[in-house]
This record gives sequence, C-alpha cells and structure tokens, in this order.
Amino acid sequence: MTEELPRVLIVDDEPGMREGVSRLLKNRGFETGTAEDGNAALECLKQMQYPIVLVDLKMPGMDGFEFLERTQAFERKIICIIVSAFATIESAVQTTKMGAFDFVVKPFTPDDLMLVVNRAVEKWRLSRETARLRAERDAHLLQLATEKSRLRTIMQSMADGLLVVNIDGHVVLDNTAARRLLGRVDASCVSVPIETLIPNEEIYHEIQRLLDARDDTLFFLEWEPDNAEVAGIPMALRVKLASIKDESGRFLGVVVLLSDISEPKQYERMKTRFISMVAHEIRSPIGAVESYLNLFEDGIYLDNPERVREIARRCLDRTTALLALVEDLLEITRRDGPSRKKNIEKIDVAALLRDLVEFHRPSATERGIPMETEVAGERHVIDADPGDIERLIGNLISNAIKYNIDSGKVFIRLEGASDCIRLEVRDTGIGMTPEETKRLGEEFYRVKNSKTRAITGTGLGLSLVKKIVASYKGSLEIDSASGEGSSFRVSIPVRSKIPAAETRK
Ligand code: ADP
Repeated sequence: MTEELPRVLIVDDEPGMREGVSRLLKNRGFETGTAEDGNAALECLKQMQYPIVLVDLKMPGMDGFEFLERTQAFERKIICIIVSAFATIESAVQTTKMGAFDFVVKPFTPDDLMLVVNRAVEKWRLSRETARLRAERDAHLLQLATEKSRLRTIMQSMADGLLVVNIDGHVVLDNTAARRLLGRVDASCVSVPIETLIPNEEIYHEIQRLLDARDDTLFFLEWEPDNAEVAGIPMALRVKLASIKDESGRFLGVVVLLSDISEPKQYERMKTRFISMVAHEIRSPIGAVESYLNLFEDGIYLDNPERVREIARRCLDRTTALLALVEDLLEITRRDGPSRKKNIEKIDVAALLRDLVEFHRPSATERGIPMETEVAGERHVIDADPGDIERLIGNLISNAIKYNIDSGKVFIRLEGASDCIRLEVRDTGIGMTPEETKRLGEEFYRVKNSKTRAITGTGLGLSLVKKIVASYKGSLEIDSASGEGSSFRVSIPVRSKIPAAETRK
C-alpha cells in the first residue's frame, strides 16, 4: 500500500513555474493546487486543505512574506517552503524566523526541490502521528475520567454500604450508605481500622482470615450493633465479605458490603412472638377442655347430670374464646391481604349497639360492673360493613369490661351528627400510662403488669379497631390514666368513602 501524500499548493506569479512544479509533483503522486499570488493562495486554503505550500517570495500584490505572516496565524499549521530567485541569506534567515519550514533557490533541479518537499512530507507525517497520539491519549483520559465518575456515582447511589479494606485492615474507600449505616454521617471511614467501624469479633476474625488466606471465599454474617437504638443505626446488618483481586490475580484487600436487614429481622421476631403467643393462648383452653373430657371418659360424674352440664358449659366457654382468637387471627390476615371486600349496607348503629351491650352484659354483671348507655342525636344510620362495625364496638366494650376493676363502671355514648357518628366507650378500669397508650394498636401489643397478667387476650383487638376506623377514613382518640380508667372515642363518616373496588357489587 502506497503511503498517503499531502496536497501541495504552489504559489507563484510565473505561470511556467507553477505548471512546471505542479507537473513534477503530480508525476510523483502528489495532488496539487496553484495560485498566482498570496491573496489567491489564501482563497485556495479556505476552499481546501493544503498541508504544504510552496510560495514564491516576490510576487505582485501579496508577497511571500505577508503570506507567510498570515498563514502562521492559522490554527491548522501549514508547512511553508519559500521559493525565490532573489534569495539572499538575510531573506532566508528572516523567513525561517517567521516560521517558514525551508528555502529553495531558483533555479533548482527537480532533485533539489524534491529533497526539500520530501522533508516537508516527513514533517507532515510526524506531526500527523503526534496529533493522532495526542487525540488518542485525550480520548483515553476522558474515558478514564468518565468511568471513574460513573463508578463513583454508582457507588454513592447504592442503598448498601460499601467499604474497601486494604491488606493492613484499614478502610481505603467508603460510600455514603456505609457512613449512614455505621452512624458516621459526616465522617469518612477512610483510614479507619475496620475493627473500629465493625466492632464484632466474628466479622473481624473473618476479615482477618480473608486477608491472611487471600482466598476467594464469600462470607455472609449478621451483625446487631450494640448502639443501634441510641444512634439510629439499623437494628441488624447483613455483612458480606469478599476478596478483591486485580486482573493478574494479585490480592488487593477485602470488600465489605453492609445491608440493613432490620425490617425482615423485626418481622421474623414478630412472627416468632406471634407463634409463641398463639400457642400459649391456645394451650390453656385446650388443656382445660382435655382434662374435662378425660373426666367424662373415666366415667366420673356420669350419675350427676347437673355437674356434667356445668362442665360442658365451661368447655363451651373455652372453645368460644378459642374460636374468637382464631377469628381475630383470620381477620388480621384477611385485612392485610389484597382481596378484602366490604359488604356496605345501611346500618342502624343505635340498634346494633343495644344488641352488643346486651350480649356483653352477663360478663359485666358477673364482675359487678354496670353498663350505662346514652344515645344522643336523631340519626345513627351509616353506610358500612356490619361485620366491621360489630367488631369495632364489640372490641371496645369487651376491653372496657376486661380491663376494668370489679364493681367498676362502663359508660357508652353514641351521638349521631349530620356527617358522622361518634361513639365513646369509657371505663373506670385499670387504665394505662401515656407510654402504654401510645403503643395501642400495634399488632400483638399487650400491656404487661400485675393487673393484666391474669387477663387473656391476643393483642389484636385494638389493632383491628384501628384498621377498621382507618378503612372508613374515621378517627380514633384514646385517653387513659393508670389506675383511673380509659376513654376510647371513635368517629365514622355517615357516607362511606371507600373506593369502589373495596365495595361489594
Ligand atoms: P387484647 O385485649 O386481646 O390483649 P387489644 O388489642 O384489644 O388486645 O388491647 C391491647 C392492650 O391494650 C390490652 O392487652 C390492654 O393491655 C390494653 N387495653 C385495651 N383496652 C383497654 C382498656 N379499656 N383499659 C386498659 N387497658 C386496655
């Protein structure tokens, strides 16, 4: 493959000279252009690129000196070869100072000219190669800078914390998430020994092991920071460790990935607590029923029908309570599920309340607790699911009795307003502290003290009440004072604002 040659412009006022040189160069593979003076040459340079220009020094109009001066200011450098019959050493020195590449004296032989032209071609090739290398290096630098900034952006946007630990066990790189998860929002982890950041012996031991063994093993460990609650640090973190090696397999350090697993951890704990609570709640009534059934199996009391009936009633009470628990559990899972549909009807809340009070009266009377009911206002009809309203009122009444003192009191007030109904269930029972009151409605939350120890329950009732009220965009207010009693006030809009999807067609 022949090498590429630069285009050459010949600037001379003598036509014979222009054509002669042009022919000579064309014969040697050059592409050429011609101009009769400096102005015409500048015009040619505007139209086309001529890396090499052969320019006569003496020309009418713009001479070689001026042309040289003008072209030296160009951004794209032109290699100028001065050609002149009037050459003197001074003008040669002057044009070289002005930036001319070389000088040819007229008359010249083709070889004289080609010697200079070939050197100019060499210089053109060299500067072209230099420019190519510079462009390549700039592109590479740009690519590196872009990749670096892209990597940094990705690292900083990660939800997981990232620490890179060098072979001395010091952090050399961190990201925002790592600082947040380690409770060092404003302080970099860089240069800090890893055991200071993760003061967990097992993890530190594994990091040390990786640093010593320099193998490829991946580790997953869980860490529950001691200071989690104080500093807002996650309750539990999953720590992943992996070795870092370069392309040639050289060990560079360890990467530590930190993920916040507080939520699944909390869920897991709640589930365990829930299962143990359900098992506990179910065990005692089933145990009681089993003992009674054993008595029957042994034939005891068969001659005492009155006693049999009494025992059967106790068994029924226990199984009824068990069914209520199972119902609550099912209801909670149903409400949290996606397919819960409401059966919206017009409900007379005053009538429903009357029925519910009568339903609970025997258990209240048993403990010497009178129940006083007041119904104010004209209309107490609302659009709602009867199951929801029954569960809501039933839970509040049953709690007012359960958490009351013997011979305490329960007041219930229902008021029908134009836009909503308001229900207050007040008791003179054991009450709660402000901290306990604040936690009401959390699933499975039960106040634990000497007064509540003997009272059975699931800790699901108020959580259901809260969910029901929220589903009607109503409100629930609770006031309570330890040792004095509690008041639960609910307000439910008369017109259901439940979205169509939740309303049964
Ligand atoms: P359960 O009664 O099944 O335990 P709830 O969700 O209905 O569950 O109530 C949660 C806790 O709130 C109860 O365990 C009890 O400690 C407290 N509580 C509820 N109602 C009252 C009340 N009227 N007076 C005092 N404490 C109450």
